[in-house]
Order: sequence, then structure tokens, then C-alpha cells
Amino acid sequence: MSTSVSSKNKNLVTHSLENNQGIKIQVLNLGGIISAIKTPNRNGELEDIALGFENPEQYLSEHPYFGAIIGRFGNRLANGQFILEDCEYQLASNNGFNHLHGGLKGFDKVLWEVESFEEKNATGLKLSYLSKDGEEGYPGNLWVTVIYTLTDDNILKVKYQAKTDKTTILNLTQHSYFNLSGDFSKQILDHNLWLNADRFLPVNTHQIPTGVYQNVADSPFDFRTSKTIGRDIEVENLQLEIGKGYDHCWVVNNEEKTLVKAAEVYHPHSGRVLEVYTDQPGIQLYTGNFLDNSLPSKSGGTYGPQSGFCLETQHFPDAPNQPHFPSTILKPNEFFSSETWFKFSTKKQ
Ligand code: BGC
Repeated sequence: MSTSVSSKNKNLVTHSLENNQGIKIQVLNLGGIISAIKTPNRNGELEDIALGFENPEQYLSEHPYFGAIIGRFGNRLANGQFILEDCEYQLASNNGFNHLHGGLKGFDKVLWEVESFEEKNATGLKLSYLSKDGEEGYPGNLWVTVIYTLTDDNILKVKYQAKTDKTTILNLTQHSYFNLSGDFSKQILDHNLWLNADRFLPVNTHQIPTGVYQNVADSPFDFRTSKTIGRDIEVENLQLEIGKGYDHCWVVNNEEKTLVKAAEVYHPHSGRVLEVYTDQPGIQLYTGNFLDNSLPSKSGGTYGPQSGFCLETQHFPDAPNQPHFPSTILKPNEFFSSETWFKFSTKKQ
């Protein structure tokens, strides 16, 4: 089932999806922002597990990409520069020297066209946006579609599609912050995390990948056996110092480049489980290290450091400048298509 409500600001529309298990998801036309995800805990009590704001208008002010679609290029590009077909591009530096998450007005800040649809055992929203040639400095008109489908077996499927009329670069992701406790005054350090990744990408002091694929073995970055996010986060380690916690891209074990399970998070107290599936080569774990109590939370109070985590499925940061990374180039004769699933369930104790 899907419904929609307009705000006082008539341009802002909130769409709601609900499945037959009672899961409720809210999506704004602004940035395709997922502003709420209500799922049951192991006792069947419905709580919101997605960080964000109560009132859609609050998303018009500065915030750290809560729930948003990220594009044209997710994560960082060193010095905001890249070279494509012998042409040098200079984009906005909106994160120190870097270009971050698409620039000053990325896909998180634009209005998307939204159409709702119903399918057998699922309900969904199709979001479309035309990013014009030269927008934020990127070449080519880019037609982007993001389809959110909520199934009756409790999966939120996110399908990304794009085409261009000039060679361009593309790295789309979804920037939801989760706290499976349903209480945003709590930190996420007690959540158990499993990552399907033998390697991660260390970064330099500007948070740009050094280009090395580093083995996670014997390091705080090893989540191949589930452990709490907090277990090693304070360990003395240069990478954790740079990120003020985890803020790194892991290389998903996925030779076949098909949809694979990349992550599982379990919150023992509520029993909630979140599984993430993707066909993308990378997954950025960001543990909300830069949340600084400056924004009001939906639980009352404010969002503090590590009150949420993101699992952003994506290509590797700075890929256009690192030719040995999987390519993020999209050509006019190509059709970009990719899928990520967020699966919600509970476990008994
Ligand atoms: C980045 C962080 C950044 C956060 C919010 C994440 O994807 O990796 O470094 O602070 O987004 O902007």
C-alpha cells in the first residue's frame, strides 16, 4: 500500500509504503530521502530505525545526507578533479580539498519525480531525475531512476538505473543511517556486524583511498566473523584515527559480480537484524563519527557521535583517479543498472 502527503512547503511530498507485515517506510521527493523505516522488534513492537527528522522541511537545511540518494559521484574525488577522454574536469571542493557526494547540490538536494506502483506481494515508488549536462560540473545529461520496492517478505529493494548522452562518471548510493535499537539516544557500538569482505581500502589523511587493497586479517577491520561495531573501534590504529572510527570502503567478496550478501547487522537487545545485499564492488561502513549533537533527533535530544551507522553500497571512492579500481565510467551506448537490498527481520535471543 502506498500513500502521499504534501507539506506546508507545497514542493515537499512525503510518500509512505507499507507491507502486509506492518513495515512502514517514508520517502520524500526531496533527495529521495528515506525519512523513516518502522520495523518490529522481536516482541512485535514497531519502532523507527532510520535517523532523520520528524518534519520534512528540516531536510532543507544542512544535514549529513540522512537517508538520501547520493550522486552523481558518491564519496570522495581527490581535489574535486578527474580526467575523462583527455578532458580535465574541476568540480566543487565541498569537503576540504575533496569533492564529496556529488557536490554543492547533489542528488540528495534535488526534487525527484515520484510515481507509486503496486506489484504482486510488493509496493513501491519510482523516482526519476534528469541531471543536466554540466550540473555540478559533470559532463552529459544523465537520466537517473531509483526504484524503491517494499516486499511482503520485508525486503526494501533499491534499484538504480541510468543513461547518459555523453561519457560521464557515476557512483550512486543510498545514505540511510540505521540504529536498530529504535532509540536514537543510544550508540550503535553494541550492534553485531558481519561483513563479507577480506579486504578494505585504507585512506590517506584526506580520506582518499591510497590505492592499496589491504587484507583485513589481524586488524580492527576484520568483520568476517561477526563482532560488535564497538569492540575494536578504540584500538590504536592510524586508519581509525583518520576516520574518527570506521569510515572506509570494504571490497565485497564477489567474483561473479552478482547480487551477494555483503553485510549483516544484529542488535541483540531488540532482536532486529538488517541484511544488505548488493551487486556493487564496495560497501562503505560509516559509523556516524562526525555526528556532533547539533541536530535534533526523532527520539527527542540530539544525534550524537555513533548514534547511527551507514552501509553504503557503491563503487570505490576516487575511482576515476585510480585506474586499477573498477570503472565508474558510463558511456552513451550503455545502460547502468544496479541493485541493493535491505532485508529486515528479527532473531530470538
Ligand atoms: C562519508 C563520511 C561523511 C558522511 C556524511 C559518508 O559516506 O564516508 O566521511 O562524513 O558520509 O557526509
